[in-house]
Amino acid sequence: MANRTAVKVARVLNGWQKLQKSNYPMQAICGAKTRAGGPCQKHPMANGRCMLHGGKSLSGINHGRYVSGDFTREALQAKKRDALLILATTALLELEEIL
Ligand SMILES: [Zn+2]
Repeated sequence: MANRTAVKVARVLNGWQKLQKSNYPMQAICGAKTRAGGPCQKHPMANGRCMLHGGKSLSGINHGRYVSGDFTREALQAKKRDALLILATTALLELEEIL
């Protein structure tokens, strides 16, 4: 549960930071032509269109199916780095015992 809350908080913060960085258009509506013929009234995203009409597709922690980052490239590299660190440390300790 705590992990889910942390993911949600990170999602909100990430979205807020992206919003701050982008030149957010001061357009009140999406404006894409709907099947009914009129302009779409939804709130636009950073690219000027809503989620239904070309807004950003979510990836990483923002994606709806994101569960955890245990097998991301960065996490796997971190695991390898930790394993190497442990190997190096044990090798050094064994060397100290010999000397
Ligand atoms: Zn739209």
